[in-house]
Amino acid sequence: MSRQIRSMTPSGENCANFDVLIVGAGFAGMYMLHKCRQLGLSTRVFEVGKGVGGTWYWNRYPGARCDVESVQYSYQFDTELEQEWTWSEKYSTQPEILRYANHVADRFDLRDNIQFETRVISAEYSEADKLWVLETDRNEKVSSRYCVFATGCLSSSNVPKFEGYETFKGLSYHTGRWPHEGVNFSGLRVGVIGTGSSAIQSIPEIAKEANQLTVFQRTANYTIPARNSELTEDYVSSIKADYPSLRERARNKPAGYDIPLNSQSVLEVGREDAKIEFQRRWELGGTQFLGAYGDLLLSPDANEVAADFVKSKIREIVYDPEIAELLCPTNIIGCKRLCVDTDYYATYNRNNVQLVDVSSKPIDRITPNGILHGAKEYEFDAIVFATGFDAMTGALANIKIVGKGGNLLSEKWQDGPQTYLGLTSNGFPNMFMITGPGSPSVLTNMLPSIEQHVNFISKCIAHMIDHDFSTIEPDREAEIDWGLHVNEVAGLSLRSTCSSWYVGANVPGKPRVFSPYIGGFPRYVERCEQVAGNNYEGFTLV
Ligand code: NAP
Repeated sequence: MSRQIRSMTPSGENCANFDVLIVGAGFAGMYMLHKCRQLGLSTRVFEVGKGVGGTWYWNRYPGARCDVESVQYSYQFDTELEQEWTWSEKYSTQPEILRYANHVADRFDLRDNIQFETRVISAEYSEADKLWVLETDRNEKVSSRYCVFATGCLSSSNVPKFEGYETFKGLSYHTGRWPHEGVNFSGLRVGVIGTGSSAIQSIPEIAKEANQLTVFQRTANYTIPARNSELTEDYVSSIKADYPSLRERARNKPAGYDIPLNSQSVLEVGREDAKIEFQRRWELGGTQFLGAYGDLLLSPDANEVAADFVKSKIREIVYDPEIAELLCPTNIIGCKRLCVDTDYYATYNRNNVQLVDVSSKPIDRITPNGILHGAKEYEFDAIVFATGFDAMTGALANIKIVGKGGNLLSEKWQDGPQTYLGLTSNGFPNMFMITGPGSPSVLTNMLPSIEQHVNFISKCIAHMIDHDFSTIEPDREAEIDWGLHVNEVAGLSLRSTCSSWYVGANVPGKPRVFSPYIGGFPRYVERCEQVAGNNYEGFTLV
């Protein structure tokens, strides 16, 4: 059904006006656009890249692939799309996921409403006109009744301020902003800083090509073998024959991801029996490893049993005992995000790979020729910064977002994000965030979380139009209560206890707040449905 918003151009401004403006054309922005078009709303999307795909447009580093199974890391809003698209591997590569994003853009004819190579620099709410006015780096202003940020949770690259960074004479890359033409490391001396998911995927690939590879590790990470494989025709047919059941099972799992979960306590089972289960899951591969027992992320003693198992594997795989010890993490398994790899630990058995421990003594500086650490200068032709992202809030912080009373979102959030359901923020009417802080987002399979948020937002906008409301804004009390709930459940999990990007610890000066909602996807969805069902409880509609 087509809906019309009779919105005006803001007073005194000469700018194009839309019903909805969306920032970002990754999976969230694309689906939001599709839903807005279905509602008959005039919509424009702004995207910095030259193409769609978001994360999968930018993260083109060698070895980049998703560590959620492809048949689940996909849209479910259209059954024909599900049937016509065939994933080739258990865990898709970045190029394949990007092809999928492009296929969706073509299939639903999305490109005409997306303005590429355009960065939104500010978004200001005009109280007089009840409109959002967005300004871009192309010196244009556009306005809309609704503004949706689909800017991603892990999209703002973080390069630590290494002294001498700009003096390096060789090539330098960030994994999250990889050159589209690829990089040929053959014959080069390469340094990689970081040992998170991006590094763990790229190191084995770079090692195969480079002459020498030196990895600078500040915190050793746990990683589980992916056991990736090509998908057989039979398997694909069986999934396609019953996609709804798979989606239903996933929806009822805490991470919105259908993996085998066992609620038993490892402490009741005992170490020897637990070893058998961990071994079985190690052979199965992937993040389901942490689903072996129900208390692994609740009790330090339980966690230690799983951590010890992985450490025993590291010692088994890595020949040099000193290197093996350096690779053995000392923190809680799953506290930082669990990584999934192909041959990561074994890569340290190669003659051309060395590991430098920078845990107790940080990198001193970048020099014109490489990296200075301690008394030693490591010379490189190329440095790869696998140093992660200003997660959850970084992309929003890069835009000057001004709400009612001229208040800045960045100022409101200076001690940590404040949202209602991770979707909206008091003082910022008609503004939505897809997978914002305070929602399950990064703790879940992102695709179903994105779809759930887009469905919520589009239903809300339809409700507003049907009932002739012009603004919706969360109440401060509802926002405070939600924030308390997010914090309370975070405190129950070991995940909130270490220095990870989940708590903003990787960006100096960022407030330490565990910002994703850890209460689980089903509980969160139920809450959103309850809110919508009770005439948008916790919101004021005018
Ligand atoms: P990350 O997990 O934040 O890892 C960044 C790495 O850089 C860490 O090892 C960090 O060490 C290190 N680092 C940062 N500053 C440093 C410094 N000044 N000196 C030395 N080392 C430094 O980032 P990421 O690997 O890009 O992954 C981010 C997230 O993206 C993942 O957790 C995951 O959610 C997502 N991701 C998913 C996939 C997938 O689906 N397969 C792939 C890639 C990324 P510390 O740990 O000591 O801070």
